[in-house]
Parts: sequence; structure tokens; C-alpha cells
Amino acid sequence: MQTPAPFGYERATSVDHAIQLLEQLGPDARLVAGGHSFIPMMKLRLAQPEHVIDINPLYAELSSISIESNQLVIGAMARHNDLLDSAIVGEHFPVLHDAERVIADPVVRNRGTIGGSLCQADPAEDLSAALSALKAEVVIRGSGGDRTVPVRELHTGPYETVVGDAEFLTHVRIPIRNGCGSAYEKVERRAGDWAIAAVAAVVWMDGGVVADAGIGLCAVGAEHFVSTDAEAALIGNTPDAGVIEAAALAAAASCNPVTDQRGPAEYKRHLAGELTRRALQRALARAEGGE
Ligand SMILES: Cc1cc2nc3c(=O)[nH]c(=O)nc-3n(C[C@H](O)[C@H](O)[C@H](O)COP(=O)(O)OP(=O)(O)OC[C@H]3O[C@@H](n4cnc5c(N)ncnc54)[C@H](O)[C@@H]3O)c2cc1C
Repeated sequence: MQTPAPFGYERATSVDHAIQLLEQLGPDARLVAGGHSFIPMMKLRLAQPEHVIDINPLYAELSSISIESNQLVIGAMARHNDLLDSAIVGEHFPVLHDAERVIADPVVRNRGTIGGSLCQADPAEDLSAALSALKAEVVIRGSGGDRTVPVRELHTGPYETVVGDAEFLTHVRIPIRNGCGSAYEKVERRAGDWAIAAVAAVVWMDGGVVADAGIGLCAVGAEHFVSTDAEAALIGNTPDAGVIEAAALAAAASCNPVTDQRGPAEYKRHLAGELTRRALQRALARAEGGE
């Protein structure tokens, strides 16, 4: 079956209008952004919303990428290609450019949004791992106002988030801190595929020591897309080969992968460790001004 069940269609004219519509139409109404996750689910009848609220008219309002008060602020409607084309994203957080280059194909990257990627909460969503490693936060708006949630607390399980039925994720904010280096490493079955496993590594260096670190894990069943044990192995240490190895082992141990058509669980666990090693080496080189 490749045809969605019948549904009503509304177009939002502002964020507040979208929230009003969500409240008015009830929990069977859903926002649609790029539609690259939600529409396939509707066609397969895994999702059968009674109403779809199209938020594409809000693209102009919610697609900007700018620096405000030492944070990179990204509107929820910024599309994958907007991130890829943004020089300030590449300058401050190359991990996002690394990840975007290997997300799907140009058709998907032209439409899929950062807000939709985070709200879809697919366990293999590359941006969820990268933004968790970056210790980013999101702004969520409801009729009662805005609240801020760390990306690490956004996902409550596969395809589930803390975003309420009548709420709208409006922005992603990433703090800009000195000494940052970051990188993303992904293994996929073929170009443009979802990850077999992927790792985002972020380090914040101070005087040759890792002052803070983020290790994001994608598609390997890690809780909240991160390995806090790998981060603990790095923080406060000089990142020599032994420390990198300890972080890689901790990352592999933090996974809970499943065997599926993308490979056996043990292979995915092995990849998590190896990709942590590689991503950390690149992140550290970038923190020192390399690459
Ligand atoms: C062939 C294919 C390959 C892909 N490969 C990859 C890949 O390798 N890696 C990867 O990470 N992704 C991949 N994707 C997913 C792609 O990145 C999607 O664009 C993304 O998952 C969803 O973004 P969207 O804007 O299309 O969201 P939509 O499909 O429009 O929405 C997804 C969900 O988020 C909700 N939502 C959307 N925006 C908001 C908002 N602002 N506030 C609250 N809720 C919101 C919707 O109600 C819906 O539940 C692939 C998709 C396809 C079709």
C-alpha cells in the first residue's frame, strides 16, 4: 500500500498559527516539514494523521543560521542543504558538514529539515548524534511560551521526543566555545544510505588538555545518542593514544546495537569503537588548526 489514508490539509502562516491549529485539531493533527520521514510513514500507513499542518510557508521565518550571544542559532526549517552551504556552520562545527555530506542524497537534502530530523527521533538520524555530541539545545514553543531542552534530553526512545502534541520545535542553539574541534565518521552499506554505525566526536581543548568532550553515537542503540563513559575517559586528560583507546573502548561498551539487515550487533559495536578512534583523531587535529 503506497497511498496515505485520507487526511485534512492546513497551511500554517506563523509558528503561533501552527500551535493554534494543533490545539484546535487535537492529537491526530501533525506538522509536516520536509516530509521526507513523515510522508513515507503515511504512505506505508505507519502514520494516519487526521490532519496535516504544512509548515513550509514558515521557511523564510525559520531557516536562518546566525551567531547570537556566542551561540550558533539555527531555525528549525533550515534544510540539510542550508547547513551544508553555510560557511559559519563549517567554520565553527565541521562535524555538521561531515554529517550532512553523508545524509541521504541531494533530493532528500533539498527538503529535509533540522527540526524534522530531530523530531522524527529515528535511532539512525545522523544529526541527533552530531547535535548531542555538540551539547546543543532546542527551543520548543507551546501556547504557554518557549522552553529550552538539551538535545540530550529531547529523545525519550525510538521515534519519541519530549515535544508535546501541541508544541513546535523552533530553533537549535549550539554554544560556541574556545578550543573546539569536531568530526563525524559514518559507515554505510552504499552512498546515501542510513548508517550501519556512525560517531560524532567533539573536543574542547585548554592548554593541551581535554576540558570537555562530546561523543555522539548513531544507529547503535546508545541511550540519548551519547556515550558519557567515553566522554569521562577524555575529560581532564591529555589525549594521547592510551586515552583515545580508553574512550573508544568505552564508546563500544555504551552501545546496545541490534542485528538487522545492516549487520550483526557485534560488527556494529566494533564499528562504534573504531569510528570513535577515527573521529577523535580528526577532531583533535582540527582543534589544533589542522585540516
Ligand atoms: C531515502 C531517504 C534516505 C535518508 N537517509 C538519511 C540518512 O542517511 N541519515 C539521516 O539522518 N536521515 C536520513 N533521512 C531522513 C531525512 O534526513 C529527513 O529529512 C528527516 O528525517 C526528517 O526531516 P523532515 O523535515 O523531512 O521531517 P518530516 O518528515 O516533515 O517530519 C518528521 C517528524 O517531525 C515532526 N516535525 C517536523 N518539524 C517539526 C517541528 N519544527 N516541530 C515539531 N515537530 C516537527 C513531524 O510532525 C514528523 O513527526 C533519509 C530520508 C529518506 C527519504
